[in-house]
Amino acid sequence: MTDDGYEGLLRRTAELAVEFLRGVGARPVGLPVERHTLRAALGGPLPLRGERPAAIVEALARDADPGLVATNGPRYFGFVIGGSHPAALAADWLATAWDQNAAMYVMSPAVAVVEEIAAAWLVDLFGLPAGTSTGFTTGATMATFTALAAARHAVLRRVGWDVEADGLVGAPAPVVVVSEEIHVTVLAALQMLGLGRDRVRSVAADAQGRMRPEALRATLANVDGPLIVCAQAGNVNTGAFDPLPEIVDAVHARDGWLHVDGAIGLWAAGSPTLAHHVAGRERVDSWTTDAHKWLNVPYDSGLVFVRDATAHRAAMTLGAAYYVETQGAERDGYNWVPESSRRARGLPVYAVLRALGREGITALVDRCCRLARRMADRLRAGRGVAVLNEVVLNQVLVRFTPSGGGDADAWTREVVRRVQADGTCWAGGTTWHGMDGMRLAVSHWATTEDDVDRSADAILCCAAG
Ligand SMILES: *Cc1c(COP(=O)(O)O)cnc(C)c1O
Repeated sequence: MTDDGYEGLLRRTAELAVEFLRGVGARPVGLPVERHTLRAALGGPLPLRGERPAAIVEALARDADPGLVATNGPRYFGFVIGGSHPAALAADWLATAWDQNAAMYVMSPAVAVVEEIAAAWLVDLFGLPAGTSTGFTTGATMATFTALAAARHAVLRRVGWDVEADGLVGAPAPVVVVSEEIHVTVLAALQMLGLGRDRVRSVAADAQGRMRPEALRATLANVDGPLIVCAQAGNVNTGAFDPLPEIVDAVHARDGWLHVDGAIGLWAAGSPTLAHHVAGRERVDSWTTDAHKWLNVPYDSGLVFVRDATAHRAAMTLGAAYYVETQGAERDGYNWVPESSRRARGLPVYAVLRALGREGITALVDRCCRLARRMADRLRAGRGVAVLNEVVLNQVLVRFTPSGGGDADAWTREVVRRVQADGTCWAGGTTWHGMDGMRLAVSHWATTEDDVDRSADAILCCAAG
């Protein structure tokens, strides 16, 4: 059999990938590794002569392995990560092999249509209004950047200012109000958009991290000018949801734009038992969520939804603004994201939505939340362990007190260190209301009760002495 250069290489690569995936649930989640070891194995000067691709893949699989973290395994509870559903992983391989440019319909009608379909499925799943526009971004940060660019467009246009044409110099100053618990990436988006991270007005949150609506109303009573408010659904420490119905009333009464960071929490809309947390979502002006977290799509993949498609397009398009209705029905991806040339990231999103179906997505979200409650219950039963949050979603926030009393902050940091070194599971440290904590998020499609029980046992063992 003759090899065209792909056959042997890609089959061997698939074997190596399957080997990794088969082992990912068994390997220690985070192996201790030194940077210099990795550099010694992978580094050296740029080779003068090229090497055979097959040799490079073998070398990468061998030499990178000690520095890989099993974030794609079922017992990685750090940050909010999620794994890769097999359907999404396979579709992502096709995206790479096809190497389609998702910028324009004409460059890839198939990818444009797949993104159009996936976008419509998501708008339907989340219960957002028909006509909501969707962009496929690299992650939540760029989704928020896109949404806030649409917000900036809309609120300035209402006062007769064309920010895309004329910029912010000399513009009426928009007032940006955020929850004191807002994710740092929202501030990063404001910083990139010229809205200034330190110019924001911050609104107090309650003990679970929910924005206080009465505090928002008080703030709004004292500000003037074009208004953008940023709230969140799914606090990264507690999973808590800002009370959207009251917030949206207050913001719209002031003719403002409400953006909600739902990187984690918008998925609650896919579950009948959790959807009440995001009641009022159809009135929110723009949403951020992530697909590479809870939807279990490979990195990278974020989503932005904007109720006013015209504002979304005006803020992002490379072409003439405002003329959505005069375009053909074909979707040009570049109208909805900051990029022009772009990977076909809608393909894995489409594949996993089809693989799970509405029922499967509900089951995934519900199961992760149930497992988070199980984790909380098992940890709470240990001595010197306190669960600091109401476990309303998939986040568990824990704090440890040493036996015989003492410095709980230092002890919590020590338990986090021990858990990470132990390797059964991985959980990160955080601070919450001035206290050190350990934060666990359950968001992998394949995490089981056994994974949770083994992890809880390992954590309690690390906290035992
Ligand atoms: C993860 C996360 C982000 C940032 O998302 P990226 O995909 O890393 O850009 C923003 N907000 C919340 C609430 C998150 O959980």
